[in-house]
Parts: sequence; C-alpha cells; structure tokens
Amino acid sequence: MPDSVYEDYPPTLNPAQKESLVRTVKDWATQNGLMVRPAPTLILKESDPHGVLATNAPVTLFPSPFPRTCFEEAKALQTAYNKLYAAITCNEEWIGKIMEDLIDVDDFISNLWKVHLAVQKEGYAQTLSLGLFRSDYMAHTSSSSPGPQLKQVEFNTISSSFGGLSSLVASLHSELLDSPPGHPIAYPPHPLLSSTTVPENPAVETLSAGLAGAHTAYGPSKSTPSVPTCVLFVVQEGERNIFDQLALSRQLTKVHKIPVFRLLSSEVLDHTSIPNSNPSRPLIYHPPHASEGIAFEVTTVYFRCFYTPADYKTDRDWEARTHLERSAAIKCPTVLNQLTGSKIVQQVLATPTGPDHLTSFLADTDPTTISRLRNTFAPQYDLSLDGQGRELALNPSTATNHVLKPQREGGGNNIYKTAIPDFLRSIPEKEWKRWILMELITPPATAKNVALRSDGEVLGGGVIGELGVYGTILWDQAGGKIHHNEQGGWLMRTKAKDVNEGGVATGFSSLDSVVLF
Ligand code: ADP
Ligand code: MG
Repeated sequence: MPDSVYEDYPPTLNPAQKESLVRTVKDWATQNGLMVRPAPTLILKESDPHGVLATNAPVTLFPSPFPRTCFEEAKALQTAYNKLYAAITCNEEWIGKIMEDLIDVDDFISNLWKVHLAVQKEGYAQTLSLGLFRSDYMAHTSSSSPGPQLKQVEFNTISSSFGGLSSLVASLHSELLDSPPGHPIAYPPHPLLSSTTVPENPAVETLSAGLAGAHTAYGPSKSTPSVPTCVLFVVQEGERNIFDQLALSRQLTKVHKIPVFRLLSSEVLDHTSIPNSNPSRPLIYHPPHASEGIAFEVTTVYFRCFYTPADYKTDRDWEARTHLERSAAIKCPTVLNQLTGSKIVQQVLATPTGPDHLTSFLADTDPTTISRLRNTFAPQYDLSLDGQGRELALNPSTATNHVLKPQREGGGNNIYKTAIPDFLRSIPEKEWKRWILMELITPPATAKNVALRSDGEVLGGGVIGELGVYGTILWDQAGGKIHHNEQGGWLMRTKAKDVNEGGVATGFSSLDSVVLF
C-alpha cells in the first residue's frame, strides 16, 4: 500500500468550495437527522430553556481512505469475535478469576461482580443473552511489514454506539460522491473520489435485527393474564447522542413492528416491576404517560447507560441494575457480558505466553480463523511485579510507544506515552493492577481530512482513523447454544493526529466514512 494514497488527499478546497461544501453538509445533517443535542457549553441553558435545539454531529467533509484488505478482514472476523465473547461470557469461572485481582482495587468492577453474584445466588430467570458488539481497529503501518495490518483498539460489549449516525454519514458522503462534476455540491476532482463508492453500511438494520431477534426468542408473555410485549431502551439523563439511538428504535417500530420505550436509568425502579407471585420474574413496564392499568412485558432490555461509574450515582442505581438483571427480560448485555469487555480481558487474550485461551474458547473454529483473530491483537501487558509491562511503562523511552488503560468505557480515561511513568508513580502501587499497558497502534502518518464540528468550526489537518465493525449475537448461557450470529455495519471515526483520545461523544473525534483502496 502506498502511503502516497494519503499524500494529496483530500483535494484542496478554495474558500468558495469550502463554504459551499460546509453549508451542504450542515443542511444535509439537519434534514436527515445526523444530529446531536448541543453540549451545555455550546448552548447555555438560558438560551434553550425548553431543550429544543440540536446541532450537526461532528462529521468529516470527505470520506477517509482506508485499506480494503483491513476493512474486509475486520468484517470477515466479526462473527468469530462475536462467538469468542459469547463463549467467554459463558465461562463464569474464567471471568471470576480475572476479576478477582481487580475486585479489591476497583469499586466499579467489584459492584458489577456483586450484581452478578446476587442474581446467581437467586438463580438467573433468563438464560438467553444478547450482544450488540463493536470491534474497533486501526490500520497499523510499520517499517517491519510491507502492508497495513488490522489491529484491534478495543472490543465493546455494552452501549456500542453510533450505528445510527454512521449509516447516515455513509449516505452523506455517497451523495456527495455521486454529485456530477460542476454540481454545486460536488467534490473537487480527485482520482480516489472519482473511481469509488462508499461501501454499504447496514448498521441500523443489523443492530435492530439483533434486538428484534431477541424479542422474538423471548416468546409470549409470561404474565397471567398475558400482556403485550416491548423492548426497553434504558438510557442516560441528558443523552446528547439520542438521534443515534432513535434510528434503532424507529427501525424496530416501523420495520419489525415492535413497541419500543425509552426509560431513564434513574426511573427504572419507579416504572418497572417484577411481580413477586410470578416465579418466571417477568419485567413489567408501566409507561407513566399511558392510561392507568396499561402495562407491557419487557422482552429485551437494551442498555445505553450503566457502562460508566457516573451512571451509578447512588445505591438505588445499583439496585435498579440488579432488578433488571434478575428479571426474565433478555439483557443486552448481562453484567457478565459487560465485564468481558474490560480491557483486562483483551490483555489476557492477547498474551502470547501461557494458556491458549483463544483455542479453548473457539474449540470448533478452524485454526486459520483463530490465527487471523490473534493477528489483530496489539501487544498488551499487565503491570505485575517483575513483569515486562511494568518495565516498559516506567521507562520513559519505552513508555512513549504505549498507552495505559483502566477498566473503563466511554473515552477520556487513558494515559498516554511519556505521561505514563509519572502517572504511575503518582498513584499507590497496589492500584496498578487496575491498568493495562498497550502498545500504540500507528496508522499512516500522512492521512488528512477536514471536519465540521458541532459548534460550526471547520478544522483541517493530519488525522487518525478508527474503524468499528458491528456484530450481534444471541446465545444461551446455559449450554452456549448460539441462536443467531451476524455481522453488519461499520463506523469510521477520525480524530486530529495530535489528539490521543478518540471518542466522538467526548468531543475528540468526528464521524466519518471510508473509500477503500
Ligand atoms: P474507551 O473504552 O475509552 O473507548 P479505548 O481503548 O477505545 O477506550 O481508547 C480510547 C481511544 O484511545 C481510542 O479511541 C484510540 O483513539 C486511543 N487508543 C486506545 N488504544 C490505542 C492504541 N493501542 N494505539 C493507539 N491509540 C489507542
Ligand atoms: Mg473506544
């Protein structure tokens, strides 16, 4: 792969072209719902007392070039990754061993584990488990290998977001690519743009079909008399990324004809109940806006919250999570499945010495696929005494090629490069086991793009792209039988090159799409 693909990309925009393209993207975003609620720092509460305003999601003006081989490999491996994480989730003992070390130093992990133990003691009322996953990658380039290599940044097992908006970005860039030369919104001519299309992005269809599959697998109401069934999205207060979520609920309602409700995590205990008299433990949702007596039985709880400690403000939030976990509703994800998304699990899987976990979890998968999965791992280390990780992290000259990650989701938590040694020395040594050290993946150094931010600012320059691939899997925790396992849809996120972190919601990066080469 020539790094030169990136050299003169994207084409230069003169001021008039730039203004026209930015205007087009802004209007397209509003017309099509490629939107987020504005950050409170952008629109003060007093300027929008009724919360009616929205703004464009941060988005690149051009699709980013991405190596076709890496893109295809990421898609090809997704169902094996789905299977791997389902198999890990089924091995409670294995997860327990890994969590053991963290439990005394990490309250969040410890509390999640306690939820699992409490429900296990009573007995799970539901053995089906739903995963809507996203595996995130970068195209790694190094002098030691001739072509780009697909390397995994992380695997997400809870609240894997942006399927809704990323499909829209693919449509936006496709429309721009399809505009004939000379058209007011056409891109300036460029060889890469004239010869390609943006690949299909069926993320909304795939993720919604995953939820619909769980809804169907739940079967009829377990209540007497029976009540209508629904899917419940449990969400954060003040969610700014709501339009991404609504893309999925609309698809469920319109295409799959399934009622969907949104419920704030803080209101779970107010509006849902599990009748004591029913040993099946159905989760009953009483919509506060419906007439008295109207109730739905929840087949599937889809968490777009409860992935970060900030979502658990009081004990009542932990009680709400336990309440949902012990219900008969299918959880997306269960607490156990959430825990498998911890960075430490990825580190253990990536460790080349010791037990071959991949082969034991994927016993019926062909060895070639297993070795291709293994090839996507970047080196990762724990920080145990006398371990290699500790040495690499504390030495400034090796720390500079690494990132230090805690067991957290949602962005903004990592420590990078030369900041690592001082950071570690600033915290008690017994807490080091909360962190894993990962070698930095280095995407092509010359990639560039232009982004329209949510505050209207237009920024151009060197960028780093991160590709996410979505997958869904429904399996039975009792015995591990897989009911469905699908791959479909992707997310390209692009951040400025000099920024370490990568989240769109956290304001570090922009939604993007790809042209393959
Ligand atoms: P989170 O759960 O917070 O999303 P990630 O592992 O995705 O955690 O890390 C956040 C961001 O940090 C990523 O989006 C990416 O931009 C950057 N990052 C993480 N690991 C690496 C790595 N090994 N090499 C390069 N960048 C990384
Ligand atoms: Mg991430």
